[in-house]
Amino acid sequence: MSYSGGRHFLQIPGPTNVPDRILRAICAPTIDHRGPEFAEMTNGLLVDIRTIFKTRDPVVIYPASGTGAWEAALVNTLSPGDRVLMYETGQFATLWKDLAVRLGLNPEFISGDWRHGVDASRIEAVLADDTANEIKAVCIVHNDTATGITSNIAAVRQAIDRAGHPALLMVDAISSLASIDYRHDEWGVDVTIAGSQKGLMLPPGLSFNAVSDKAMATHASARLPSSYWDWQAIISANEAGSFPYTPATNLLFGLREALDMLNEEGLGNVFVRHDRHGEATRSAVRHWGLELVCETPEEYSSALTAILVPEGSDADGFRKFVLDHFNMSLGSGLGKLSGKIFRIGHLGDFNDLMLAATLCGVEMGLGLTGIPHSTGGVTAALGCLSASSRETAGA
Ligand SMILES: *Cc1c(COP(=O)(O)O)cnc(C)c1O
Repeated sequence: MSYSGGRHFLQIPGPTNVPDRILRAICAPTIDHRGPEFAEMTNGLLVDIRTIFKTRDPVVIYPASGTGAWEAALVNTLSPGDRVLMYETGQFATLWKDLAVRLGLNPEFISGDWRHGVDASRIEAVLADDTANEIKAVCIVHNDTATGITSNIAAVRQAIDRAGHPALLMVDAISSLASIDYRHDEWGVDVTIAGSQKGLMLPPGLSFNAVSDKAMATHASARLPSSYWDWQAIISANEAGSFPYTPATNLLFGLREALDMLNEEGLGNVFVRHDRHGEATRSAVRHWGLELVCETPEEYSSALTAILVPEGSDADGFRKFVLDHFNMSLGSGLGKLSGKIFRIGHLGDFNDLMLAATLCGVEMGLGLTGIPHSTGGVTAALGCLSASSRETAGA
């Protein structure tokens, strides 16, 4: 590999671009994780992180990737052989289901076509049939990062309530938290799972469980083994501002900075920024004449856009070209979409001109690799960004 000038464009839908402020925060000397300075920082983090989840519940922080927090949610609440209801929205939902199988759970996987989000009425129907209350949890991926589809969690909550079913509601918000509006308390979520390397703008390595009282009560009788993931041990240690084992100290420095940045911008503004970038990206895709993976406009993701290449075109060859020539990484097709799509991440630390450059790289790449499309997508996206800037400027 030889040096290529300028910044790399990391436009995969996570890990996302880490802002300089966070990089500098992480660079500080590591401190004693049992000392007073660390305890003070942790006490602040554990309070402030709740605002991002929109919850008053405790948030458990793990030194782990998002997959660890998936596992944690299940082993802390469930017992071997328990039935859980999961929903096939894409590759991430599929991976979580596979993990549940490996843990000895008995998932029922509502099949989906990877082009639509959760149909809550199907959840309601399954729960209504489960008169013996054998299903212990409903597990949903809020924003399936493989497909760019955002499901309606409030509708899932209503479906569970209409069925009068006591199952826990667990939601993977790994690629939505701090990018797309998310409401742990209001939506009655029992366990929210999140990760550091998407909307939170941190490097990979931290993940989270926000835990409701109901989930905590279930924890007492759960029989799947958990040690590293055990909520009670962590929450007890957290009371004194510490952790039962060595935490990822420097990533927590980064988390402190990320929470400050999100607070400075205002969470509402963060969501609007992501919505604008999603909208502008889709206007480019429409002008290119390419097809979105997501078929339902209400479910378009503001965090990323997944785009089908025309039959006979090579999505991975296109991505390789863009990387080699424009120093930009785009997301690949995952699972059954492998080779058929590419994904543009527009989440995390991102602004209009970064999006414009990203779309320029895509449009040039489409032209140079001979993928059939119409030009003018970038111009359309710029028009879309200008129009919404004009609105906020009140001009
Ligand atoms: C990234 C992601 C994961 C996996 O997280 P890892 O940190 O790779 O373990 C799970 N679910 C969703 C929705 C994701 O976007």
